[in-house]
Amino acid sequence: KLYNQVQDLKGSIRVYCRVRPFLSGQSNCLSTVDHIEEGNIAINTPSKYGKGQRSFTFNKVFGPSATQAEVFSDMQPLIRSVLDGYNVCIFAYGQTGSGKTFTMSGPKDLTEKNQGVNYRALGDLFLLAEQRRDIFHYDVTVQMIEIYNEQVRDLLVADGSNKRYPLLTLLEIRNSSQTGLNVPDANIVPVSSTYDVIDLMNLGQRNRAVGATALNDRSSRSHSCLTVHVQGRDLTSGTILRGCMHLVDLAGSERVDKSEVTGDRLKEAQHINKSLSALGDVIASLAQKNPHVPYRNSKLTQLLQDSLGGQAKTLMFVHISPELNAVGETISTLKFAERVA
Ligand code: ADP
Ligand code: MG
Repeated sequence: KLYNQVQDLKGSIRVYCRVRPFLSGQSNCLSTVDHIEEGNIAINTPSKYGKGQRSFTFNKVFGPSATQAEVFSDMQPLIRSVLDGYNVCIFAYGQTGSGKTFTMSGPKDLTEKNQGVNYRALGDLFLLAEQRRDIFHYDVTVQMIEIYNEQVRDLLVADGSNKRYPLLTLLEIRNSSQTGLNVPDANIVPVSSTYDVIDLMNLGQRNRAVGATALNDRSSRSHSCLTVHVQGRDLTSGTILRGCMHLVDLAGSERVDKSEVTGDRLKEAQHINKSLSALGDVIASLAQKNPHVPYRNSKLTQLLQDSLGGQAKTLMFVHISPELNAVGETISTLKFAERVA
């Protein structure tokens, strides 16, 4: 096929890892990362008998000096395959503070240079659609939802309704393979430029943040999912191609000490544990070509069922913090990643 400029990857699962740099004020700190070589990362582990080391292998490992542009350029073929009708899921996994939101969206003081994957992905889709405009007509629409305590909410709601945020109608997941819309009641917004996208993401982030003041830093305890739907019409044959991409900033993976938390916080922690392990189980069984894939065990995997497995492409992007006191979470993140690789 002439227009298929993308390397045909078929259904696939890849696992990437990114190490956050030390933050300002943390210079001269020792890192848990001993060295990175190609897809290999070696972690210094504390051990009873002195220093130990544990190494892990993934499709790609980005060190602390990797730029947003480098990270994106590696993911570009995967993202571009959406225009060829593939379904793609990209997950940012890791403990709170490890850099998930930095990779997916960027830092708080957003500039063009430090924009994350979400912005770059949409910008790139618009660019490629423009290049193909003699062959295809593309329509791009987006949805943005949040899963908190196994409840699904729309993040693309007017700012005015923010005051009622925790009371907003909960959305239902319906697997409707016909329309490709699994949350048909969530707002779906047509976008045609990076400006549109920036506006929408700001709205989504504001809606997330307002929930956070009520419940104290809620964004680290919910999954947010930006879904990009692409519909392409072949101008000669009239054939319609549909693809979609889910860009998921997962809730923090840190284990909470059950003896120290109670009430709402414990409930949140249990929901997060459950959904992250359900996601791990789904990806691991896909990786092992297991005939039974346990999609029904969490809202997140139900939501993404059509985009996980089959011809779909999955990227599990795990993030780790370099600090010595994070080594326990770092090892547990890398073990999670190893299991789904
Ligand atoms: P998470 O979403 O996993 O909780 P954040 O993305 O919010 O973590 O990152 C925590 C802090 O570290 C933020 O201040 C963020 O800007 C910074 N940070 C994360 N990754 C990087 C990076 N690769 N380069 C520079 N700063 C980073
Ligand atoms: Mg975050």
